[in-house]
Amino acid sequence: MRKALSAKENEKGGQVSKIPLREGLLTERTDGDLVGFRCKSCNHLLPPLTITCPYCYSDDLERISLSRRGKLYTYSVNYMDSEHLKAPFSTGYIELPEGFRVFSVLKEKEGKPFEVDMEMEMVVEKLWDKDDDEVIGYKFQPV
Ligand SMILES: [Zn+2]
Repeated sequence: MRKALSAKENEKGGQVSKIPLREGLLTERTDGDLVGFRCKSCNHLLPPLTITCPYCYSDDLERISLSRRGKLYTYSVNYMDSEHLKAPFSTGYIELPEGFRVFSVLKEKEGKPFEVDMEMEMVVEKLWDKDDDEVIGYKFQPV
């Protein structure tokens, strides 16, 4: 069962809850950071949702907040609907200063078409509706 981040009333007087895309993906602030890890055994920095260090196989990992800015490594425009998103929508990989890439839905910004290597920043917002609830996750947009 996912824990609601917050709740508000919808037009019909019901409760709209904000639920996280994945438990433990973001720190618990409203505009949370992505949660990555530092391996306490070999010191490598690791991406979100890592369970075991791929360098030394230790599972002694410490949670860290990841940078909210990175560079657009590559992207694609998707012309078919996904399970949750209506086409066209863009997705890509963001190269973080920590030394790895994270996959993200990309948010458009007026006058800033996506370009490889451009500076991107993370925003936390609704990804889609699920029944009466809002699923909250992260996107990256041009700076
Ligand atoms: Zn390690």
